[in-house]
Amino acid sequence: MIYLDHAATTPLSPRARAAMEPFLGPEFGNPSGLYELGRRAQSALDAARRTVAECLGAEPREIIFTSGGTESINAALLGIAAAMRRGGLGAHVITTSIEHHAGLHAAQTLETLGFDVTYVGCDRRGRVHVEDVEAALRTDTVLVSIMLANNEVGTIQPVEAVGEAIRAFEARTGHRPMLHTDAVQAVGWLPLDVRALGVDALSLSAHKFGGPKGSGILFLRRGTPFQPLLAGGGQEHQKRAGTENVAGIAGTAAALAEATRGIPERRVRVRSLRERLREALLRRVPRASVNGCQEECLPHILNVAFEGIDSESLVRALDERGVAVSSGSACSNSTWEPSHVLLAMGVPIRAAAGSIRFSLGEGTTEEEVELAAERTAEAVAYLRAARLREGVRT
Ligand code: PLP
Repeated sequence: MIYLDHAATTPLSPRARAAMEPFLGPEFGNPSGLYELGRRAQSALDAARRTVAECLGAEPREIIFTSGGTESINAALLGIAAAMRRGGLGAHVITTSIEHHAGLHAAQTLETLGFDVTYVGCDRRGRVHVEDVEAALRTDTVLVSIMLANNEVGTIQPVEAVGEAIRAFEARTGHRPMLHTDAVQAVGWLPLDVRALGVDALSLSAHKFGGPKGSGILFLRRGTPFQPLLAGGGQEHQKRAGTENVAGIAGTAAALAEATRGIPERRVRVRSLRERLREALLRRVPRASVNGCQEECLPHILNVAFEGIDSESLVRALDERGVAVSSGSACSNSTWEPSHVLLAMGVPIRAAAGSIRFSLGEGTTEEEVELAAERTAEAVAYLRAARLREGVRT
């Protein structure tokens, strides 16, 4: 199988697996236990927290381990907004219309809780403009949440500039909204330093960078108002109740340390493979076009529109040909929904309907890229011919 869906999930790295193994076997202690076995689990947690803090330029106390990207994002949005409102600071939240559903649906939950939410749009390339975020800032804005890089088209967002705009707003008005970023897709491709980014909160998901599924990280800058999502024990500095997933956390820290090394070389190598895939696809497939920008974007994501087909059929046809990719559209309860990201970018609905995402990884080879382009050309031609036979104008 040619696996080109690394933005969906990545294989577990051997180092992460090795770091997890003891805690799936003899080291099964509960970190809250006061005896030797528990203390060893606690010291593994402490070590993992130090590693993660170091990778992100944070302090260990600012790191909270969660069950994944979705939980981190929900905790950040709901937890910060609620604490700010409780402090009488307002009830307005700004986010973007191209966030992952974890962020978008958490923002919708905030609306049901009485918050006023502004959804800032993006341009044709999938980029949010700092001026638009700035224009939406109000003296009752409690939180701004903007993703660092988009998961469907890979566009990098101006998070640092948004942080500067918020500081300028604070200097003018004396009011300071908090800033959260969903950095789930950025790990291993962009350097991540929470101070340089100027964020108060940042969310990560381990399985996107060679770690285990069901394990995530939330950075919360010291002093950030926060109301925990879960009621229970006092784990994670009172910020996330529940017995810690020790094995998952050990694997997450090992994977993050590995992913944050050698970024420039990885970027150059994978970008050149992606360029090769792009050229091969555009050369072999008529009426294909790239969605999103090719600069200021993650090096491993390529989103392509194939006119005259539907993306679900193409994903299945490619699966039959041994290629794993994703479509941005969602099919639930037999209703079909095109990607909200492509629609926000102004991609016409016909093109959005036939768009798929290729996402490369560390282990992707030149041969795989060439073969994937060849099989995509074959699958698109087959599906277009089938449509013509059915009498559907493509
Ligand atoms: N945010 C982004 C940008 C993502 O791509 C994803 C996963 O696809 C998530 C959040 C959710 O992460 P998780 O799968 O760990 O819940």
